[in-house]
Amino acid sequence: MAVAGRAVVRLRPGKHVPLRAGRPWVYRGELERVEGTPASGDVVAIEDARGGFVAWAFYHETSLLAARLLTTDPNEQVDEGFLGRRLAAAVAYRRRLLDPVCWEDGGACRLVFAEADGLPGLVVDRFDHVLVLQVLTVGIERRLDAVCEQLVALTGIGDVFARDDSPVRRLEGLPERVGALRGKPPDAVVVREGGLKLEVNLRAGQKTGHFLDQRENRILFGELVRRLLLAGRATAAPPEVRVLDAFCHTGGFGLHALAAGATSALFVDSQAPAVDAVGRQASLNGLTGWTAERANAFDLLHELEREHRRFEAVVLDPPAFARGRAQLEGAYRGYKEINLRAMRLLAPGGLLCTSSCSQAVSEGMFEGMLRDAAADARRRMRVVARCGASPDHPGLLGADETRYLNCFFLQAVD
Ligand code: SAH
Repeated sequence: MAVAGRAVVRLRPGKHVPLRAGRPWVYRGELERVEGTPASGDVVAIEDARGGFVAWAFYHETSLLAARLLTTDPNEQVDEGFLGRRLAAAVAYRRRLLDPVCWEDGGACRLVFAEADGLPGLVVDRFDHVLVLQVLTVGIERRLDAVCEQLVALTGIGDVFARDDSPVRRLEGLPERVGALRGKPPDAVVVREGGLKLEVNLRAGQKTGHFLDQRENRILFGELVRRLLLAGRATAAPPEVRVLDAFCHTGGFGLHALAAGATSALFVDSQAPAVDAVGRQASLNGLTGWTAERANAFDLLHELEREHRRFEAVVLDPPAFARGRAQLEGAYRGYKEINLRAMRLLAPGGLLCTSSCSQAVSEGMFEGMLRDAAADARRRMRVVARCGASPDHPGLLGADETRYLNCFFLQAVD
């Protein structure tokens, strides 16, 4: 399709098929040739090997991801109106879907999730009255003024903060940037999650400050602790529920359990700022019974096992162990080691909430690892729930990489 001023990217034979099945990007090795001299961030036409139109896309001159699809409608113009429509649709989806508390004072949710919202490389989180952006493609970076303007108009939120310190930006040739894009955003805000108040450090916290993809799973964990472990036990004294929250960041999982009535929680993270935050979060919510330790969770799990410690509930929420397929074997070993140890630490009837956020680790592979870990730990485990990311982080069928989060809730049968 020839459009004046638009370059054309022709694909090798058959390489349009995964795109038609939902994959929203083109790898450089799939290009047959580029007609014209598009710069990074330009909109180009993607064509199949026979010259049939496939999509309009953002082009990149050097990245392994040579093009990111924007629209498969040949007549749609990619201009400010296009960005406005996509942003409005992303916000409308969350408004229909999410608990109304996400929109009240202290509400928090992901408003835009990149490819899943047809906006490749743009992530927008709302924390109370601040929008936090991650801009991960040149295509969005070049249109950032229009994006900010439309977001402010759509949400009525005037404080916009950039957390552009992700290494992904380097692959696109973009510099790091942390600071205000609009207004005067504060460095930290307090948001509500379920019945909890959580402090989110926008400037120095990990990623955008708070891992919103696990929000529903943290709330469910608190609920399951209450229903499975605490409620309906006809004992004079409430049963003891000891929680281990490993890879805790600012402690969301364990704090939900304490709020539900757990007796004690041991929080572990390797980063001092995360461990320090746990105490502040606990006092913000009037919760007691917590201990926070800065440690390597692998070592600590080993040590707790040696000491024959027992927990009624264990959380494992590590960072991605596999960045790509080449690291899968090592990742499998890492996941199996921590899950095996966690299963051994569980008291009879105990609950394990275990996650993987590695893109390359499929749900099937993660489940296989859990099966192997349970067999080696000699624990019979049943699957209470299998979950993914919160629905404000939807994935795309045909692009498994966008469905990166697996979270299983398992219970030790005996
Ligand atoms: N559960 C958290 C998110 C965890 S993110 C929440 O719901 O907010 C993963 C965390 O693991 C990060 O805080 C990181 O600092 C920590 N981490 C990474 N490697 C670790 C290790 N070897 N031992 C302990 N913590 C580690």
